Amino acid sequence: MLKNKVAIVTGGTRGIGFEIVRLFKENGAQVVLLGSREETVNKAVKTLAEEGMEVEGYFPNLSSYDEVKQVADKIAEKYGKIDILVNNAGISASKIIDNTTSEDFSKIIDLNVNAIFNMTKAVVPYMKANHDGVILNTSSMVSIYGQPSGVGYPTSKFAVNGFTKSLARELAPFNIRVNAVAPGITNTDMVANLPKEIIAPLIKTIPLGRIGEPRDVANAFLFLASDMASYVTGNILSVDGCARS
Ligand code: NAD
Repeated sequence: MLKNKVAIVTGGTRGIGFEIVRLFKENGAQVVLLGSREETVNKAVKTLAEEGMEVEGYFPNLSSYDEVKQVADKIAEKYGKIDILVNNAGISASKIIDNTTSEDFSKIIDLNVNAIFNMTKAVVPYMKANHDGVILNTSSMVSIYGQPSGVGYPTSKFAVNGFTKSLARELAPFNIRVNAVAPGITNTDMVANLPKEIIAPLIKTIPLGRIGEPRDVANAFLFLASDMASYVTGNILSVDGCARS
């Protein structure tokens, strides 16, 4: 489904991002994964190599536009184009507001929102040059319903949706589609780090009766990245087992 496409996936070292990288590779794309640290990037690249998939990895500071642009330029030069950008890196929060510092709040916004801006700004000129491109953002179920505590996280994901819907309109004339996937609770380290008191009652409210697996979510990214979604832009696609809380 992605033959001859060149894709960049942030937060590609584990969890949902790692599964997106793997699935994009299985579908014929050339993939570059980005992570936060050299060792985790190397580990992910090595695991995929052992599965017979060759990918490259970098670890720019996503908060720095200059660093991100350097990496985007390098990738574009090496592969000749950038077709797909997946802005997936993200961190979560669960503390109540009394225990949340303004630094905590800024840290979330910095990665979950500002980094998306930086990556996208660095890549858009290459997509415009080809009059073709797909930008996909990882939002969340909390971007629709909020969550009981950890206000910075839903705030950031509401911003992701706004970014997605607005940029889709701005870039449509350049044949660049912009969509987001809003996963529900998904079986990754991010969820393993959340307190049981938050997760257990939530699972009970999921009509499909289970939490999502990274592959469930990656499949939605594959569809949106592919030409199967050629008339889909400005959408937030929920992949949440019909969870409504
Ligand atoms: P994860 O913690 O397993 O992986 C997070 C990824 O982000 C890692 O690859 C990590 O390297 C990267 N990352 C973290 N901090 C970074 C930083 N400072 N700079 C660069 N990269 C950084 O999480 P996940 O569950 O796979 O989450 C991926 C995305 O899915 C996030 O945007 C998250 O908000 C979203 N999401 C997750 C769930 C869930 O239940 N797991 C639900 C909804 C949305």
